[in-house]
Amino acid sequence: MQEIVGESLARRLVEWGVDTVFGLPGDGINGLMEGFRRQREKLRFVLVHHEEAAAFMATGYAKATGRLGVCAATSGPGAIHLLNGLYDAKLDHVPVLAITGMQETSVLGAHYQQEVHTPLLYQDVAEAYNLMVTNPRQLPGVVDIAIRHALAKRTVAHLSFPNDVQVAPAGEDPYRSVSPGAPPTSSAVLSQPPVPAAQADLARAAEVLNAGRKVAMLVGIGARRARDEVIAVADALASPIVKTLSGKLVVPDDHPLTTGGLGLLGTKPSEELMEECDTLLMVGTSFPYGKYLPAPGQARVVQIDIDASLIGMRLPVDAAVTADARLALQQLLPMLQTRTDRSFLTKYQRERDAWRADMTALQDPSRDPIAPQYLMSCVDEAATSDAILTCDSGTVATWAARHWTIRGNREFYLSGNLATMAPGLPYAVAMQHAYPGRQVIAFVGDGGFAMLMAEFLTAVRHDLPVKVIVNNNNSYGQILWEQIVLGYPEYAVRHRQPEADFAAWARACGGYGAKISDPKSLPGAIREALAHPGPALVDCDVNPNEPPMPGKVGYDQAKHFTEAFLRGQPHKAATLATVARDKINELRS
Ligand code: FAD
Repeated sequence: MQEIVGESLARRLVEWGVDTVFGLPGDGINGLMEGFRRQREKLRFVLVHHEEAAAFMATGYAKATGRLGVCAATSGPGAIHLLNGLYDAKLDHVPVLAITGMQETSVLGAHYQQEVHTPLLYQDVAEAYNLMVTNPRQLPGVVDIAIRHALAKRTVAHLSFPNDVQVAPAGEDPYRSVSPGAPPTSSAVLSQPPVPAAQADLARAAEVLNAGRKVAMLVGIGARRARDEVIAVADALASPIVKTLSGKLVVPDDHPLTTGGLGLLGTKPSEELMEECDTLLMVGTSFPYGKYLPAPGQARVVQIDIDASLIGMRLPVDAAVTADARLALQQLLPMLQTRTDRSFLTKYQRERDAWRADMTALQDPSRDPIAPQYLMSCVDEAATSDAILTCDSGTVATWAARHWTIRGNREFYLSGNLATMAPGLPYAVAMQHAYPGRQVIAFVGDGGFAMLMAEFLTAVRHDLPVKVIVNNNNSYGQILWEQIVLGYPEYAVRHRQPEADFAAWARACGGYGAKISDPKSLPGAIREALAHPGPALVDCDVNPNEPPMPGKVGYDQAKHFTEAFLRGQPHKAATLATVARDKINELRS
């Protein structure tokens, strides 16, 4: 059988070690689908229900495995649907290849049906590499170049194939004469080679760190392969470890050296130690919220990042180290003087213990309606020691940040920098594909889940035992609280009745579904769902009036919050019954 371009593409993906493509067919990619079909023994095509989910799946796959994620969509609407998930990959620095269709070349420019110029549309998201393939002889060279760009720059690359090109006979590799040799066959080529640090940069970094008296570390997802090294360096410097939310998995939450997260969803001790430290070591992070970092001039800063262009983005840096986090910390450790005065660390360890006790108190099982903190704690308690938790943007991120404990080999993922709604479930589907033996749990709000809930059907249809926990407050909870904090009366953030019954949806899909509103039934329902051999969903009614309070409440936030209540927030009685009451009473007195 004559090889067509679609198959040449699929074969080249296989040669690069790609084993999964997430996507949805359409009349703009029939030739590509035929190519995928011909390689189906080696290349799994995961058929989804919405292209946005396919892009989230490719992104989630890349986040969890460190390998290239690949998604495919038809021309026009399909390609447009991919965009949000692709921006998630771009903003969180993970490699994804997007493959789309295009009208056939003979009708381009003729206002033909679905003629959307995706290379133009993708100019921003796929700025690293973005090409419409117009000649079969461009393959497989352009596939190699696209993949190399995605991997080297940890970003999105895009190839668009017109219909006629997809089914054209595959040509010769135009680069073969220039670069002979075997095509890439090892999956090792899909991962980043570690980059060591320059000695001069390390010497400067060590000098700054050794001179510090109150050293803090801020570690992000770029340090995910450097857990032991982060802990060793923190121990030598007697430095508390603060984690970004995306970097939550880097160090276990129950490790004595960490004070947890930073930012609105962070902890009070982390925030206060940032205000007090005289030296900050940032590793593998582009933490975006400058107001939570030391004030300019307060602390000397050392930053380790693999991407030189991202160093110094948030704070002026005294020592910049462009290198892989793990290698750089290994190189740095012998250059550090072990600090004997550990008073800065122990002070914040005490504060951290007090903070944890406060968080545990909020997980009160007797609160009715169910406190979302209690819901998260029940999942936390029942989940395995290597479970993966994904979550959406919204109040769920706060509950996960504070009540999902990284211990053992547990992991945690969310859309960090795009902060989009809806990736929780698609991430979970992709990660379950990548790690069939592990427990994968999506902790989502009713808002985010409703956006892409058809992907629960994908999980059932692909026999993926993902677990979905819906934190159902029947509202856009995060926005509700933002309106209140800004001093506006709440508007258009609570859904009208009827409330959706997502458990019924799960059962209608052929999965397990339970609806819970009684706190006493919650632990048993969570355990049962997690033990269920197939896809399972628990739709849990939680208190919609539970405020996701910042670790350290700022005066303006609290003032607006208080004023909004005193002005007559419609749900004030219910909300006052929660933790906010104490804070408000404090401010009133
Ligand atoms: P990134 O921004 O992805 O940065 C990772 C860095 O590591 C990059 O600079 C990269 O170049 C570098 N890197 C990659 N690989 C390596 C390597 N091998 N060696 C060295 N460097 C490497 N975040 C918070 O921290 N606190 C909050 O309160 C918070 N609230 C949020 C609320 C919501 C609802 C949502 C959705 C998100 C929230 N976030 C919060 C996430 C936040 O927006 C950022 O995405 C996050 O802080 C960035 O974390 P990061 O720096 O670890 O990751």
